[in-house]
Amino acid sequence: MRAMRVHAPRKPLVLDEVPVPQPAAGQVRVKVLACGVCRTDLHIADGELTDCRYPVTPGHEIVGRVEAGGRRFAVGDRVGIPWLGWTCGECEYCASGRENLCVQARFTGYHLDGGFAEYALADERFCHALPEGYGDAEAAPLLCAGLIGYRSYAMAGEAKRLGLYGFGAAAHVLAQVARAQGREVYAFTRPGDAGAQAFAMRLGATWAGGSDETAPEQLDAAILFAPVGALVSQALKAVKPGGRVVCGGIHMSDIPSFPYALLWGERRVQSVANLTRSDGKAFLDLAATTPIRTEAITYPLERANEALGDLRDGRLEGAAVLVP
Ligand SMILES: [Zn+2]
Ligand SMILES: [Zn+2]
Repeated sequence: MRAMRVHAPRKPLVLDEVPVPQPAAGQVRVKVLACGVCRTDLHIADGELTDCRYPVTPGHEIVGRVEAGGRRFAVGDRVGIPWLGWTCGECEYCASGRENLCVQARFTGYHLDGGFAEYALADERFCHALPEGYGDAEAAPLLCAGLIGYRSYAMAGEAKRLGLYGFGAAAHVLAQVARAQGREVYAFTRPGDAGAQAFAMRLGATWAGGSDETAPEQLDAAILFAPVGALVSQALKAVKPGGRVVCGGIHMSDIPSFPYALLWGERRVQSVANLTRSDGKAFLDLAATTPIRTEAITYPLERANEALGDLRDGRLEGAAVLVP
């Protein structure tokens, strides 16, 4: 089968011919129908995460059709395979409902080969049934942009006025969820990015502007999806006392020092790491009842480098999705 693999950091992915993988006990093999491209794939391609083995097939927003293996799904079922690929089930985190922090967790497209390929394997316990009503490419961004975005959203609490820094795949999904729940969305983009600001307004944002601008209202919470550490102090300035600033990404540039006065007033800064299976179920149940229009920009598998480049340069209005 064909797979687009990372062989070394900061080098383009290579189109390789590799054997079709055979499922072990408890695993399913899926034919990949679509696989989303996430900023984490960029961090892996750029060698910004520790613990990466090469070559690796990235991709952790896999929509696939079950072909073989496992018992939980029937052959022909459409399933979603997210970032969380395996947990030990025994450590203090697994035992307390926090498997997202499992010390031995293995992640799809990082420790385990992912979906930038024609076929993929997954532990069936970590696969999700997908809601009807979403096409394959449209369902793919739900699996990380949606899912880890939703965990970040939950961490932000009952914020009536919610700021989103970085209006990409995750924010475009969450903005719709927030609007459906009667919240106001304030979208912060790269300074001067009129296209992204217009995109945010089309999705129901109350206000959109550059990350260097001041929103017209003080915010109750802000979520940072852009991997830019300097935005932490910007977001702290934008939230009111008691407000939360949630960092939704796996990697961020260093956070510059800032005056304690910005944190004062019981403001909180918090990261969000990975996801649990129950996060996945909660979000996908929500997606089944809340219509979310995901904007999928599709690329054939062999053009994965182009998709990653467009993501890196902020050229996407929505989510890049590879279709083998
Ligand atoms: Zn991701
Ligand atoms: Zn564990």
